[in-house]
Amino acid sequence: MSKSLTQRQFLQLIAQTSDTPLMVDVAHAKNCHIFDTKGKKYFDLIAGIGVSSIGHRHPNVIKAIKDQINKNLHVMVFGEFVQTPQVRLAEALSKTLPNQLECTYFVNSGSEATEGALKLAKRYTNRFNIISCIDGYHGSSHGALSVSGNESLKQNFRPLLPNIQHIPFGDENALNLINMETAAVIIETVQGEAGVRTAKKKYFQKLREKCKAKGALLILDEIQCGFGRTGKLWAFEHYNIQPDILLAAKGMGGGMPIGCFISSKEIMHSLRENPVLGHITTFGGHPVSTAASLATLETLLEENLIDQVEKKALLFKCLLKHPSIIEIRNKGLLMGVEFESYEFLKKIIDRSLEVGIITDWFLFCNNSMRIAPPLTISEIEIREVCHKLLESIEWASKKN
Ligand code: PMP
Repeated sequence: MSKSLTQRQFLQLIAQTSDTPLMVDVAHAKNCHIFDTKGKKYFDLIAGIGVSSIGHRHPNVIKAIKDQINKNLHVMVFGEFVQTPQVRLAEALSKTLPNQLECTYFVNSGSEATEGALKLAKRYTNRFNIISCIDGYHGSSHGALSVSGNESLKQNFRPLLPNIQHIPFGDENALNLINMETAAVIIETVQGEAGVRTAKKKYFQKLREKCKAKGALLILDEIQCGFGRTGKLWAFEHYNIQPDILLAAKGMGGGMPIGCFISSKEIMHSLRENPVLGHITTFGGHPVSTAASLATLETLLEENLIDQVEKKALLFKCLLKHPSIIEIRNKGLLMGVEFESYEFLKKIIDRSLEVGIITDWFLFCNNSMRIAPPLTISEIEIREVCHKLLESIEWASKKN
């Protein structure tokens, strides 16, 4: 297809992150749909990679943004001025969390939440060894990349942070590596970019116990799996454990950039002395983002979206039946559909895009299709989307 001027400029002027950008030329978006500049309607089956959990431009989010822009935008760096949207959001978050997760540090992205949490753990424990998981993903900045667990993204960026050990996700025996020198274990409650991998409740409980016994902090990364995506507001609720530090971002902003790390007052307060300003950010907790995030959280809870996640996920799994599908892995509406190869899946993804469905693969699992729609997706829409996906799979099978 011939490219428009803007599409050609995109390729020339905008830094490219791969040779195969999806190139959807966005005009506007609403709830589960994105419309391109030619008026073509796409179903966003990946919610902007786990972001638009309450749909694109939810009216409550838009109203919160408009109300806030009429008051003030940026006024001061994080941590100095009393900014009501930040305080209200921190209060609302703490109400959804166990008592000790009462104190929130707001940042602008998932990677920044990881960075802050790693520094906090080192500062609080006075230790510097970190344990994380093979195929875990925690972000693209140097520290976050260091704890991420796949060589493909890391190998050409060394040296990275030292003193990091990677263990297999879900392997109880490997937890013996946690010792009195471990500052923290950072782990996704559900591994996202590994292609949606879960671990057993017993594993998480052992992990929790071991960290406690050795004085290591448990950092749960719920940047992708938090905020309702798995059918609980926080994915750790499935496992009956509590982290020492919780990370959130992506879906929490309702489409605005925001992230956070949450901990106890005692742990968090170690960032304010020795050195003073132990972690700082200019834009973290931006008033528009925090106002949008509060509206997102309230909407998630008021519209009972989380309660419907499991039923919707089951419907996907019932409908998506095809001989080419090797496996469907999921925790709620974070789903990975596995095929024989990247090449085969690429055909399906390209074909789906042609027929108006946006899907994707995973960073560390390129033979699995990402399905992570807005939680607002209706049953009728699930049926329509699955019908089209099956047609694309059939189309690709015939081309194989
Ligand atoms: N942690 C997890 C689990 C993620 O899925 C991501 C993003 N895919 C990140 C961290 C990094 O977030 P960001 O891209 O906002 O920096």
